[in-house]
Amino acid sequence: MPHTPNSTPPHSQLPTHEVQNQPVPRGARDLWAQDPILQSYAAHAGADLGHLRGAGRAYGTVEALFDAAEARRDLPRLVAFNRDGTRADEVHFNAAYHRLMALGISQGYAALPWRDGGQGGHATHAALVYFQAQLEPGVSCPLTMTYAAIPALNADAALAALWRPKLMSHQYDPAIAPVAGKQGATLGMAMTEKQGGSDVRANTTRAERDGDIYRLFGHKWFCSAPMSDGFLTLAHTPEGLTCFLVPRWLEGQRNAIHLMRLKDKLGNHANASSEIEYHGAVAQRLGDEGQGVKTIIEMVHHTRLDTALAPAGLMRAALAEALWWAEGRRSFQRRLIDQPLMRAVLADLALDLEAATALGFGCARAFDGTTAEDRAFARIAVALAKYLSNKRAPGVIYEAMECLGGMGYIEETPMPMLYREAPLNSIWEGSGNIICLDILRSLSRAPLAGHVLHQRLQQACGHDAGFARAYSAHQARWPALPAQAEARWFVESLAQLLAGAMLIEVAPQAVTDAFIATRLLGQRGATAGAMAQGDLAPILARLCPPD
Ligand SMILES: Cc1cc2nc3c(=O)[nH]c(=O)nc-3n(C[C@H](O)[C@H](O)[C@H](O)COP(=O)(O)OP(=O)(O)OC[C@H]3O[C@@H](n4cnc5c(N)ncnc54)[C@H](O)[C@@H]3O)c2cc1C
Repeated sequence: MPHTPNSTPPHSQLPTHEVQNQPVPRGARDLWAQDPILQSYAAHAGADLGHLRGAGRAYGTVEALFDAAEARRDLPRLVAFNRDGTRADEVHFNAAYHRLMALGISQGYAALPWRDGGQGGHATHAALVYFQAQLEPGVSCPLTMTYAAIPALNADAALAALWRPKLMSHQYDPAIAPVAGKQGATLGMAMTEKQGGSDVRANTTRAERDGDIYRLFGHKWFCSAPMSDGFLTLAHTPEGLTCFLVPRWLEGQRNAIHLMRLKDKLGNHANASSEIEYHGAVAQRLGDEGQGVKTIIEMVHHTRLDTALAPAGLMRAALAEALWWAEGRRSFQRRLIDQPLMRAVLADLALDLEAATALGFGCARAFDGTTAEDRAFARIAVALAKYLSNKRAPGVIYEAMECLGGMGYIEETPMPMLYREAPLNSIWEGSGNIICLDILRSLSRAPLAGHVLHQRLQQACGHDAGFARAYSAHQARWPALPAQAEARWFVESLAQLLAGAMLIEVAPQAVTDAFIATRLLGQRGATAGAMAQGDLAPILARLCPPD
């Protein structure tokens, strides 16, 4: 049963001392109403604010928090075989995991962007990603892959007609049954093999034609969410690398997908990442033979939006906890939040959260756009956002952890979970170097991407002289694209500039000024809080409004 904090206060007078100077436990929270940073960027991106008001409450109930803790405590378990030796190839989850999946699906996490005539669908989805990352990031993976697979299905009208309505359902249905008879369905992705993940052309899985279908033979080294109703996967045909949809369950039988083992991971524990093998698994081709990368890239592009937003959610969760602690804890006769140096640290961290949220929602807005310029901007901006926000997240979360002192290192707080989660969104869907190389490729091969990006940065120059100086310095440093070895520096600089431009459009002046001074004009050291003192109060006020 969910524990209701302070319903009957515990003993604080103990035989040896009185328990004091511990902030009251955080209970239910409203992830929308208590987050002015989110509100401003979501509104500017055109999200459905009415929907988010309800969702923000739903993601912060005591029951949802309890389910998140349960889903992490009681880890998913592989049941490869039944008692009688027959193959089951199932993963069993705590019931709390299923309730979290049902919450995400009922809120429209996967479906909202694809509704006919839905306005701001990606922007609304982006806020759900941000909420989910705060509550339980392990559940985000199957929800994100389901959302991202939907546009890839456009490559085959018949498959889209069968799967799309199930993937867009608001009803979670974990039944082991073929998709046609289910109320709702989820999709996963299986690309990575042992010999190469970034370089999928090294895949060795092969597909043999068998009448109208294909049969797959091979392995996949990473397959998160193996209880999905199907996977988008890559395999070789005589024409080359081809994309397939592999249904998990067939009529009256299980498809020949063997779950070999679950990965023992640093974090992301509620998510059952697995190794799988195809032993003649039935598969349906999605797109033309030899066009596998082109087909599946639609899915990868959309998962990048979520992996650009999730670090903002993780940073938000860590900073909300740090702020709550600093407000409730006294040290040297003052509350921590009133100590000038603690204020500087929190405000500095808040600037990274502002930047990540601005970038994520700026991308979501472009994903909702309909013009060629929107598409070109979405492609380049999401890569910049994914790179920068994920590179900042581990450092920000570590510093937020330190704001709690020793308590931040204790598993009863969310900090260790957030810290373990922090590196993951950078690693998958194109790890740091791959993203940087991809950005160089986009800028050299897709002139429109470079053009719309330049336009956006040029516009910002007209609003802020400091920003204009920083952009000029960037252009002087890189009059042409850099060599590969310098790609990280170039991308970091460009991503910080884009974040600055997005802050200029939306954020209060104090936030924008501080960001430009510290991130673009070098008025900051290498560690959090090592920066000039500006007006910190408006920056901190956006972290959490007074009750
Ligand atoms: C928890 C978890 C869940 C996952 N779930 C899935 C899943 O469901 N489905 C799936 O398909 N995959 C999944 N993955 C796999 C993930 O997408 C890959 O690990 C990732 O794409 C990197 O591939 P790799 O591990 O083979 O590393 P490699 O491709 O070998 O890369 C190793 C390093 O080399 C760098 N690198 C590669 N090429 C270059 C280059 N040309 N220049 C410079 N640097 C380079 C990379 O950036 C990386 O830092 C998951 C991974 C994790 C950790």
